[in-house]
Amino acid sequence: MLPDKEIKKEFRKTAWANPEKYYAINVLKNEGFERHICKKCSTPFWTVNANQDVCGDPSCSGGFKFIGDSPVKQEMDYIQTWKKFSKLFKEYGYEPIKRYPVVARWRSDVDFVQASIYDFQPYVVSGEVQPPAKQLVVPQFSLRFNDIDNVGITGAHYTGFVMIGQHAFMKPDEWDQEKYFTDIYNWLRVGLGLPKNEITFHEDAWAGGGNFGPCMEFFSRGLELGNQVYMMYEQTPTGNKELNLKVLDMGMGHERNTWFTKGTSTSYESTFPTVIKMLYDITGIKIDKGLMKKFLPYSSFLNIDEVENINKVWLDISKKINVDVDELKTKVTEMAALYSIAEHLRTLLVAISDGALPSNVGGGYNLRIIFRRALSLADKQGWEIPIHDICEEHARYLKPIFPELSENLDNVRKILDIEKEKYEATKIKSKKIVESLLKKKQEIKEQRLIELYDSQGISPELIKEEAKKLKQNVEIPDDFYAKVSERHEQKKEVKEKESDLDLDDVKETEKLYFEDYKFLEFKAIVLKIIDKFVILDKTAFYPTSGGQAHDIGELATDKVVNVFKQGSYVVHEMEHEPQFKVGMEVEGHIDEERRHQLSQHHTATHIINTAAKRILGNHINQAGAKKEVDKAHLDITHYQSLSEKEEKAIEDEANKIVDKKIKINSFFLTRNEAEKKYGMEIYQGGAVPGKMIRIIEVPGVDVEACGGTHLKNTKETGKIKILKTTKIQDGIVRITFVAGKVAHKESNKEEEILKEVAGILGVKPEQVPIRSEELFKKWKEAKKAIKKGQELAKELLELTTTKEERATAKELLNKTAQIFKTQTEHVVKTAKRFLKELEEIKEKL
Ligand SMILES: [Zn+2]
Ligand SMILES: [Zn+2]
Repeated sequence: MLPDKEIKKEFRKTAWANPEKYYAINVLKNEGFERHICKKCSTPFWTVNANQDVCGDPSCSGGFKFIGDSPVKQEMDYIQTWKKFSKLFKEYGYEPIKRYPVVARWRSDVDFVQASIYDFQPYVVSGEVQPPAKQLVVPQFSLRFNDIDNVGITGAHYTGFVMIGQHAFMKPDEWDQEKYFTDIYNWLRVGLGLPKNEITFHEDAWAGGGNFGPCMEFFSRGLELGNQVYMMYEQTPTGNKELNLKVLDMGMGHERNTWFTKGTSTSYESTFPTVIKMLYDITGIKIDKGLMKKFLPYSSFLNIDEVENINKVWLDISKKINVDVDELKTKVTEMAALYSIAEHLRTLLVAISDGALPSNVGGGYNLRIIFRRALSLADKQGWEIPIHDICEEHARYLKPIFPELSENLDNVRKILDIEKEKYEATKIKSKKIVESLLKKKQEIKEQRLIELYDSQGISPELIKEEAKKLKQNVEIPDDFYAKVSERHEQKKEVKEKESDLDLDDVKETEKLYFEDYKFLEFKAIVLKIIDKFVILDKTAFYPTSGGQAHDIGELATDKVVNVFKQGSYVVHEMEHEPQFKVGMEVEGHIDEERRHQLSQHHTATHIINTAAKRILGNHINQAGAKKEVDKAHLDITHYQSLSEKEEKAIEDEANKIVDKKIKINSFFLTRNEAEKKYGMEIYQGGAVPGKMIRIIEVPGVDVEACGGTHLKNTKETGKIKILKTTKIQDGIVRITFVAGKVAHKESNKEEEILKEVAGILGVKPEQVPIRSEELFKKWKEAKKAIKKGQELAKELLELTTTKEERATAKELLNKTAQIFKTQTEHVVKTAKRFLKELEEIKEKL
């Protein structure tokens, strides 16, 4: 099978040879358009202008020609653009839907949404799941980070933009390409009010993921306004074949359409006019409109990825437009900085509001990069940027289309504040590191850069900058970040081991464990036995999945020691080869205590997730979880370690939910219904396959797509106890906890430890912390005295405190652990050691 690039090439030839079959040319012909071939690039294009001999691409037609001179009579601002588009398309039979979050929680292959079609991949596009509507339009905020360095300079590049999507999901007999084309044509004519002679259509082809089809791009005045893709075919080993579900994927830059109607010098001014005005006021910059108008047609030459000698390009441009090169550079750099700051903060507002966090891993890494880029651009220009106000203004301006952004503002601001502190700290740290390395005459090479980045979050750009101040050069490899992310991907690949039993001829297992966690006895037919592994026609045994550990128990009289999934089969691993035979009916019996404890830990995980969200903010999402018998943990997305106060607050909030005895509902819904009703937040445990998904609903608390065994009400969880929290990686905090019986045992354990320490110190439990502090202080003094050979009266080392403290056993123990600078489980050992050493020193004195 051919790679996508090759299919596209091949298919384009086919389509160009037979345009009647692949493009809606009847519509074009009726409107008076004719087919021409571009004399520069040979692309077939459609126009009403008999003499037009080049296509609409800016490189053929000579750049943007709408700046200050839009062919559109009536301007539209950013908000009006979507309102008008969605109103028009509603009349044409499309349902306008709300945007999806930019954090693509429903997909396991990407971090962020990059185009409107991402909303419907993989299950809608594959035909497995019904779309929200068969014909729809959506203003989809999308993130792309491959052009960061061009943002601000070229006037049209973004890291975060809205792709207006026009989509249809149709069986071949319902597919109506002429209608879809007519609808978008009407947008250009009626919506934008463009005269026919200002529109050029290109015949092109598209391919992705083995699917392909023709597409029609539309241009005006050198600007590509959008592209209508018709996904119609797929590649198969036996040749190309028509898709059972044809998909219309029209993507159009929201920003571009607005820009085009306004004809402002850059698209940033038409996309966020109020923020740009604020920034002019704050920085005191005045835009040189004349200069920008002259400069912009050449701005794309400064594409940093493609240029070798950037200074030469600046000089060339300055000559062409007859402006002093230094003046040009200063003014353009200044403007670019201002635009970038506005653009980056908008992206951060949306991404963080949707639940992403800046960090040094995965998609969060790109958010960190753009935030730091914005900060350092401001630094370089000497600007004091009120980040909070800018975010607020973005949210206010976007409120008519994205009201949700205004709701999360407080949280976004808090996260950016902390991220800024981290940036400042890193700057200081990197300076020190670079200085010391260069002092030792150590060259800073690739490996070192990667290590510094990976372990301390110090970006190579910062190191390069610091080195430059010391007149040293540090080379950053072009593919630096690709290399770093490669390292992280390798780490990700540690998967649960997959078994590969030969089960081809066996019917898939019916799962009984969804119904009721107390359903522990069942009868089933043995379908297959391979050594110690048994497959039944149905089972109530829960296999390790979704982070929840497997059940154990018996089948007939044989012991089940492990249960796991292989595809849609549940495999029972027996202690020995079983005595029963294939075809027999066996009785299954599940170990109740273990199942009960695991269910308690699982339900507690959902409760703690919500408790953490309530205490820490809306950015909290599950990043991972594991529920074993003796303890469980939940990994949450959070930007810093938790304080003891926060830990306690989460625990209290969780126990409040427990005490409310809230009924827990579990049921199956179609994916579509579930997403419509509860939103994409349900994918806390990651992407879930299948048409039907199981929902665990704790009304007023939490709704998740989850296959685990759950309790019937929150009270059954028993007391939840957080054992500890640890920052396990940048942006992720692990909460280790226990519930039910184990929590009870754990509480007793603390009391016991405290009693034991009290015994060792010869005081009451309430006196332990203060006595411990005294012990630690006197132990230190004694050590110091011995080391320095000083005199010290023995009486001064006697332990005499008797002061008491009112607190729970846990609090007293924690305090003592802190005094000893150790963990609670080592408090006894540590107290003994200090006492012994103190006695020894007393002997010596
Ligand atoms: Zn051309
Ligand atoms: Zn769950």
